[in-house]
Amino acid sequence: MLQLRSHPIPVVPPTVVEILSDDERDALRAEIKGLLRAQDAVMVAHYYTDPEVQRLCDDTGGHVSDSLDMARFGHEHPASTLLVAGVRFMGETAKILNPEKRVLMPDLEAECSLDLGCPPAAFAAFCDAHPDRTVVVYANTSAAVKARSDWVVTSSSALEVVAFLRDRGEKILWAPDKYLGAYVQEKTEADMVLWDGACIVHEEFKARELEALRRTHPDAKVLVHPESPAGVVAQADVVGSTTALIKAARDLPVEKLIVATDRGIFYKMQQAAPGKTLIEAPTAGHGATCRSCGHCPWMAMNGLRKVAASLRSGANEVLVDPEIGRRALRPIERLLDFSASRRTVIYGANDA
Ligand code: SF4
Repeated sequence: MLQLRSHPIPVVPPTVVEILSDDERDALRAEIKGLLRAQDAVMVAHYYTDPEVQRLCDDTGGHVSDSLDMARFGHEHPASTLLVAGVRFMGETAKILNPEKRVLMPDLEAECSLDLGCPPAAFAAFCDAHPDRTVVVYANTSAAVKARSDWVVTSSSALEVVAFLRDRGEKILWAPDKYLGAYVQEKTEADMVLWDGACIVHEEFKARELEALRRTHPDAKVLVHPESPAGVVAQADVVGSTTALIKAARDLPVEKLIVATDRGIFYKMQQAAPGKTLIEAPTAGHGATCRSCGHCPWMAMNGLRKVAASLRSGANEVLVDPEIGRRALRPIERLLDFSASRRTVIYGANDA
């Protein structure tokens, strides 16, 4: 069952990629390294951010990964300040798990269409309309939505958690990604109602054009993130989270891979699978809107200039209402306890 959208479609900003001269880039890198040291700070960055941001993160002892793993790293690292390069819900998750630390972001306007498309008040009304259902939300949500949930899941843990709840006879209310929700519903056959949200990047991958691309490259394997439409997922050799797709790129015994997720992942994927050819899955073609063209406009807001500016001034600190943070922590910890009890690896296998 799909909940009809009762709120506006998120406004998508243009994708603006930071252009730097070599001298400017080198100067910013040197300045940021000094600021991180001086402020007892460490960087964490998402796989979808600009390669220059990921490179600097790696070079300064930070961590490039998915959202929960970013938060886990920040929690375990002794630094008192976390510079989170990603989108706002990632900064919030880091703050929820590390309330005693200062969490900065390059740009607090870096949003996510899944988060924006699931406003807390409308979501609370949706939950109220289904009081008999266990509320399971994806990591790509605001702190307030997490606070209203019973479980927070990642793309790698969703199948296992929902199957566990199904076996206990529980009916599920799922939010916000309808494609991932439908994928989980199909695989687990759980009783689920779905919020009508989507990632503007993954929603744009085109099934018909992917078929044509596969005919052009019959020797390629297809890697797909499950936030993509069903017709794209159906063509995948591997469906998985960002970390799972990077591992698949490394491990599959082929030289050519078609990749249906944000192209920012190519930086780490190429490191994991050097010499292999990575081909972007098509976003153009029949019905194309190209609101993102394969790269998240909000992730693109994370550039070296903004990283430096935030550290210089202390601007863009992420603040979460302590009561909301306390309530949001419970469903996150439930996932972590579940993961530990199942000996599954949740950290390092999430997406966003
Ligand atoms: S790529 Fe999609 S899911 Fe990830 S932050 Fe951008 S809009 Fe959200």
